[in-house]
Parts: sequence; C-alpha cells; structure tokens
Amino acid sequence: MKGDTTKHQGKRRQLVSVLETKGITDPAVLKAIGSIPRHLFLDSSFDEHAYQDKAFPIGAEQTISQPYTVAFQTEQLQVKPGMHVLEIGTGSGYQTAVLCHLGAVVYSIERQHELFRTSLKRLPALGYAPKKLIFGDGYKGFPEKAPYDRIIVTAGAPYIPEDLLAQLKINGKMVIPVGDESQKMTVITRTSETVFEKLILGNFRFVPLLGDKN
Ligand code: SAM
Repeated sequence: MKGDTTKHQGKRRQLVSVLETKGITDPAVLKAIGSIPRHLFLDSSFDEHAYQDKAFPIGAEQTISQPYTVAFQTEQLQVKPGMHVLEIGTGSGYQTAVLCHLGAVVYSIERQHELFRTSLKRLPALGYAPKKLIFGDGYKGFPEKAPYDRIIVTAGAPYIPEDLLAQLKINGKMVIPVGDESQKMTVITRTSETVFEKLILGNFRFVPLLGDKN
C-alpha cells in the first residue's frame, strides 16, 4: 500500500506485541491491528508516533482512540464475517477499517462534517469498503438498515440510548462506554424482544458522545 513502509510494518508488529502483553488474545483482532496502516489515518506530523498505544488528535476536537481501546472493544464485540455492524463515531475511520478487515458489513455514523468528509475519501482510498458512512446523530442510530448484529459506540455515552437498543437484533451485542467523566465499558446482549443482559467491564476515558444540546 502506498505510504506504508517496512518501518511502519515493523512498528505495527511491536504494537501487536504490546496489545498481547495488555491481554488482547483474539487472533483476528490482532491481525487487523497488525495489517491496518494507522499512520495513514493521522496527520503526517504523527508519522513517528502513530504506533504508540496512545490516542491522538484528528481535528474537530476529536481523537483517534488508543489502539488498546480499539482492540478491547472489538474483541468484546465478537464480530464474524458478514455480520451487520453499526458504528457510532466514525472519527478517523480507523475503527471502521478494523471492522471492515474482520469482514463485517459496516454502517458508521459521524456528527462532525469535517471528519465525515475525510473518512468518505480516506477509507476507499486505503481499500476499505464500509457499506455506508452516514453524516448524522449517532444517538438515533440508523433505523433504515436495522436491526444490527453488533453495535459499537466509540464515544463516551452519558446513558444507553433507547434507539440503539431498539436497533439491536435478538442475540445481538452492543459495546458502549457509559459514563460522564470516565466510562465503564458495557457489553449488552439482547436475549429476547424485551431482555437486555448487561456486563460491565473496565474503566476507560473517551471524548463525549454529543447530542443536540451539547
Ligand atoms: N472510532 C474512531 C476512530 O477510530 O478514530 C474514534 C473516534 S472518537 C474517540 C469519537 C467520535 O465520535 C468523534 O469523531 C466524534 O465526533 C463522534 N461523535 C460524538 N458524538 C457523536 C454523535 N452523537 N453521533 C455520531 N458521532 C459522534
């Protein structure tokens, strides 16, 4: 791939080792992180730093998530090829690329127009083909193509949006960081029309999922 060098590939292998040390075990997730050129989702001024396990600014006061966070959320999501996945918070498009790499049919929503426009160009240019990138409010989901096998929210949600629960298939899963200042990673499994089982995992810190009023 143009712009991806053996030096970047070497740094990616080191990043994969770091993620393994931190407890990520899913081979498909590690393979995706080892394959996707994270430096091409960032401004070129971050070229030297792109494979550190850190979040970095991507414009519009937003960040690309830390690789450990991307790997952790993706591992919890348990994506299989062909699953329909809704992502809230396209941001740089990096997590979208991870989902595409896993063979998912991806719908992704972003509310910052500048970031939406950049991903719309960047993802196909790098060979990733999400089914649809949507400019809009992720609190509402994307009912046109619901229900989804999986939903992933990549910004800190003050509460679990009802509209997203309603768009989850039975036996579907949603991974969502819930909280204000810091968030608890929450995995929700819909076991019937009315029952949603909740599993609460570790603490994370995300930029906020913004609504109409903020
Ligand atoms: N998945 C992203 C990546 O790999 O770069 C992470 C992006 S960042 C941590 C969270 C993103 O959620 C930001 O781009 C932000 O603009 C977006 N966001 C915040 N509130 C939103 C909302 N209500 N609807 C859609 N996107 C939202």
